[in-house]
Amino acid sequence: MQTDKTSVIYRTRRAASRPDLPLISIVVPAYNEAEVLDHFITDTQAALEPLGCPYEYVFIDDGSGDRTADLIAQRLEAGLPGRLIGLSRNFGKEAALSAGLAHARGDVAVIIDADLQDPPGLIPQMLEGWRSGYDVVYGVRVDRSSDTLMKRSTAGLFYRIFNRLAHIDMPANAGDFRLIDRVVIEALLQLPERNRFMKGLFAWVGFPSMALPYERPERRAGIGKWNYWKLWNFAIDGFTGFTTLPLRIWFYGGALVAMLAFAYALFLTIRVLVFGVDLPGYASMMVGLLFFSGVQLLSIGMIGEYVSRLFSETKQRPVYLIQDVIEGSVPASSSSA
Ligand code: UDP
Ligand code: MG
Repeated sequence: MQTDKTSVIYRTRRAASRPDLPLISIVVPAYNEAEVLDHFITDTQAALEPLGCPYEYVFIDDGSGDRTADLIAQRLEAGLPGRLIGLSRNFGKEAALSAGLAHARGDVAVIIDADLQDPPGLIPQMLEGWRSGYDVVYGVRVDRSSDTLMKRSTAGLFYRIFNRLAHIDMPANAGDFRLIDRVVIEALLQLPERNRFMKGLFAWVGFPSMALPYERPERRAGIGKWNYWKLWNFAIDGFTGFTTLPLRIWFYGGALVAMLAFAYALFLTIRVLVFGVDLPGYASMMVGLLFFSGVQLLSIGMIGEYVSRLFSETKQRPVYLIQDVIEGSVPASSSSA
């Protein structure tokens, strides 16, 4: 299953210029993940060691309230290569990823959840895809049966509407789990917006991309941090960050309704002129009144969404703040270091 539309020539040229043993940055956002961290590191090490490539971890402690940061610091001290970026509070996964990418030094970065829902066992296959010339190798969930029917159908609807409206191809059922080349890291870091809807940004930057199907397991331990309200807001972030079509819909809707209203007014006037004064009409008045106030409230709300995005973008606040960076050991040297 490949959704890539790139000419082979680009990929061949890329493949030829790839270093044999790239430095791999494992970018891990972690928010209260103390329970799974050990499992995560064990499994990831098992996937990385056989590759023979130098690697480093970039953990982002997204304002955890448990022992996440302590555990990571201990592992770094004990010789795990990489660093821990401690954010000053919980900024959310999207911001944490931006922080992680900014501190990754690798030729490639693997973005992976700490809860083992993104199987580290896929990293070697991702690297193979990269070696064959793809700049992005992203995981696609083949089967969402671990999700509820409600979550599956709302997710499906979201992807359909988003891709229609935003004119960018965001692959359905792909998460943040992916391997990206240095050029893609740099491209993402160049994007100045504060609304970091990562899936949208990944799709927006483009580059030759390959899909890698996998089955997403249940979270190994700890609890998920998403609920429907958060997901709904996440979806609104996605839409308003990537399309202004909803604003235009109200322009056309408004024009259509105004035209109908004008025709109706004309009809009423003529009726009064021909048949004389006509008092009954409470129902039609109420219907008109309610309908138009509804349309107006909706469109004001829609505009409000965009105005609020403008507001948060113009404040120019940083996406995240760092309170501490803890450096572990450096990765074993390689051809590319
Ligand atoms: N995460 C984070 N900040 C947050 C929420 C989550 O860094 O505010 C991290 C979390 O530690 C995990 C990843 O993002 O590594 C995915 O989170 P979760 O498992 O809750 O989401 P889901 O798997 O349901 O998408
Ligand atoms: Mg999870």
